[in-house]
Amino acid sequence: MDVKCPVCKKQRNSSMKVARHIFGTGDKNHRGWVNSQGVSFTNLLVQQATETGNRGFTTLAEIVERAQETA
Ligand SMILES: [Zn+2]
Repeated sequence: MDVKCPVCKKQRNSSMKVARHIFGTGDKNHRGWVNSQGVSFTNLLVQQATETGNRGFTTLAEIVERAQETA
């Protein structure tokens, strides 16, 4: 199932790949969208870098999944 980036509508085949795309793009629009979901883009990046188990990506992937209906 394709998963859309809620910001730019690019499609990936998993929410983890969309999460990677959002972190990788990291422009104002993508950062702003993440922050508008009640989480801090910066904190997620720090979490991803400092904790094991892809925590930052996983958290963002879950948010992306929840946003699919409105994407
Ligand atoms: Zn995007």
